Order: sequence, then structure tokens, then C-alpha cells
Amino acid sequence: MLENMNEKCAVVGIFGHEEASELAYFALHALQHRGQEAAGISSSDGKKLHTIKKRGLVMRVFDEAKLKTLSGSSAIGHTRYSTAGDDSILDAQPVFARYDLGEMAIVHNGNLTNAEEVRDNLIKKGAIFQTFMDTENLIHLIAKSEKDKLIDRIIDAVQRIEGAFSLVFLSRTKMFAMRDRHGFRPLSLGKLPNGGYIVASETCAFDLVGATFIRDVQPGELLVFEEGKEPKSIKVFEPTPKHCIFEYVYFARPDSKVFGQSVYQMRKNMGKALAHIDPVQADVVIPVPDGGVPSAIGYAQESGIPYEMGIMRNHYIGRTFIEPTQKVRDLKVKMKLSPMPGVIAGKRVVVIDDSIVRGTTSRRIIRMLKEAGASEVHMRVSSPPTTDPCFYGVDTPDKENLIAANMTTQEICDFIGADSLAYLSEDALLKSVNATEDNYCTACFTGKYII
Ligand code: AMP
Repeated sequence: MLENMNEKCAVVGIFGHEEASELAYFALHALQHRGQEAAGISSSDGKKLHTIKKRGLVMRVFDEAKLKTLSGSSAIGHTRYSTAGDDSILDAQPVFARYDLGEMAIVHNGNLTNAEEVRDNLIKKGAIFQTFMDTENLIHLIAKSEKDKLIDRIIDAVQRIEGAFSLVFLSRTKMFAMRDRHGFRPLSLGKLPNGGYIVASETCAFDLVGATFIRDVQPGELLVFEEGKEPKSIKVFEPTPKHCIFEYVYFARPDSKVFGQSVYQMRKNMGKALAHIDPVQADVVIPVPDGGVPSAIGYAQESGIPYEMGIMRNHYIGRTFIEPTQKVRDLKVKMKLSPMPGVIAGKRVVVIDDSIVRGTTSRRIIRMLKEAGASEVHMRVSSPPTTDPCFYGVDTPDKENLIAANMTTQEICDFIGADSLAYLSEDALLKSVNATEDNYCTACFTGKYII
């Protein structure tokens, strides 16, 4: 795999609205949780594309004056997550290019699984790459395609790539939205209040700009937006859905509807199901905020154990890059999460988190809860053990760093210092999200990769 792939990201597209870049900006705010490293918007005024992208949060990248320069009635935007220490703005999106048909910009959420192969072939044919992003492959494939029209070139290009992609393309006069045949990553279509359309990774972006949800872009579908016309749908691939179950577990915002269902409700269902796995006698149920909140509510409702806020989260902590000693690392967790001794001292606590990845967060949290006086700490996780890395767009470490790939549940329990530990089973997770068919990707829990 290439370095600096598109990891956790958000995409948005606005078409046919005179405040397109402003709306894209607000939508990106709502999608900030999907990536905090860089943000960008490209707009089109019909003759020319304008792009601004930079490292940092949406709020820091744009201000009123900058948004004014992004003129025109269509705009696409992106927020990006990348690895620490990478400070290249070249790897921010939209990716913009001039080519023989004019100008285009692309935003991408997901990972291409054949990116290296495609890139090597393109390089052999003389292509010069500026970034490590697999999205740049698309630019080259479109530019080199022998078809006459952009739409045919896009279809040509997406047929050469494999993996997970929710894409939005902007040309001077049109916008295109496309989802891979498995629909790994979400992408929804909405109508703007004063005319025009929006596509976005999550529907929480629609709510912020007052848009009405129309439907999800279908797996394998390409939507074409053109002035004065309804969006046109083209079935590029036969859909074979494999939605990313981790969107429900951790990734998406609870107020979004993803893959047609409320994320909040799915997480509450997971918490309810979790209450039936290794039940314990306890005095309080507390979430690890924010990820564990909806499932802890579900757990408390189902078990009858009172829900309390036992851990406070400080929302103003960004990344701290100083990590030289264990002492500083411990302080870093305390900066972000602080225990509420009044709630937990002397109590038997059930603490709920959405997932354990490396195990370091849980270990620190449990130590913190015990230091704050909890008499027992029972860790419950609202997903199965994360045993395998994701190649389709979620940022997970290599297998050797995934604690559940290397230890049994009892060993993990001992490592994190909990009095007991239980995970949601794969079956219970699938039931909680109404996955009756084989229509979800569970590779991070099962190692069953479809591609
Ligand atoms: P760890 O310390 O590696 O076990 O991290 C577990 C914590 O990371 C949990 O609280 C999860 O909510 C959170 N988490 C899970 N997946 C991801 C991800 N892809 N990116 C960032 N945080 C995550």
C-alpha cells in the first residue's frame, strides 16, 4: 500500500446554488469529525475553477474573504485525515488539474486497493505524480483516456480502479458523484432549500444547511449534475453492497443517517445487545466519550443499571506532538479525558467504548478510573475484537499493533487492568444494524476481505 492514502475523509458537493462555496464550508464543518488534518474547497464560476486547501481545521483554513474568492454556483469540498508529521499540503484535497478538456477537481473518500499497480503503469507510460494520494491516479486516468467527453472519461477511469471510493468531480459546468460498486463508504443526495443539490458523506451536513435528504447515491451509480436539469443517474457497475460496518461502530456522527439508518439508533441497539453479554452486577454505566455514549445509553436502558457521566471530555485538545516520555503521554490522556470522582468513587463501574484498537486508550482509562476510586471496572466494547486492518478507508494500524490480533480476550483484560472484559459478538453486531443479508463489510473483525 502507498503511504498517505486517503484515510478517514469527508466529501461534499454543492450544485446550482449561488452560495455554493459557503454551503460547502458549512457542510465541511458538520463533517469535521471525519478528518482534521486538512480541508479544501474548489468552486466553479462556469469559466474557471478556484481552489483553496490547507492543513488545519475547516475553521482555520477558510474565512469570509477566502470564501468570497471561491465564486460560482458549484463547489466541492474535502476534509482529510493523515498520519502525524506529514505536513505536505500537496496531499490535501480537492486534487485540481488542467487537461485537454479544460479543468477539473476531485475529492475522494476511501482507499483504492489497486492504486500501486495503476500508478506503476501510469508512471511507465510517462505520468509524473506530485502526491502520494491514490486520488491522483484518477486525474491521470481521466486525462489520458481516449474518450471525447468528460463523462465517458470518468466512466473509463473508474472501471480501471478497484477498492472503496465515494467521489465527487467538478468541471467548469458540471458536477459528478460516484460510489464504488460495494458502497463501502457512504454518500447521500439532498435538495437545497433555495434550489440546487447537495451530495455529502453524511446527512448531518444536510441538516446544517437546511437540505432535504432525497436518497443515497447507489453503489455503482454515477450521478451527473447539469444546469437546469434533474440529476441524471448512470449505472456504471452492478451494485453488490458491502457497507462498512465500522461507520456505525465508530466513524459516522450519531445524528447522521448512514446506509439508510440512524447511526444513533444503531449504536443504541449495539449497547442493548451488549447488555446481554457477560452481564455484571454494577452500580453505574459510564461511556468513554464521545464514541461510547449512544451504546452506553442503550446498555443502561437494557440492563437497568443507572447511566452516569463518569468521564469528562475536553473538546479543545488537538493533537499534541510531544510524546517523549511516558509521563507526558499519560498527561496527554488526562488532558483529553478526566474522571469524575464524585460519580465513580467506591462504585462498581461498567465502562463502555465503541472499540479497542491498540488497547492503550482503555488501559489508561481503566487506570484513571481506579485511581479516582472505582471499586471495580468492567470494560464492555460495543463491537467485536478488531483483529484485522482496513484497506478500504478506515485508519487502522497493522495487524501486529492490533491488540486483539495478538492476545485472547482474557489477556487483553489483564493488559488493560479491567476486572472483566466483554465484546459484542459479530452476530449481535449484525443483528443490531439489521444486516440480514451479506451486505456489510466486517473485514476489520473477521479478516474476510471482499477485494
Ligand atoms: P486504542 O487506544 O488504539 O485501543 O484506541 C481505541 C480508541 O480509539 C477508542 O476509544 C475508539 O473510539 C477510537 N478509535 C477507533 N477507531 C479509530 C480510528 N480509526 N481512528 C481514531 N480513533 C479510533
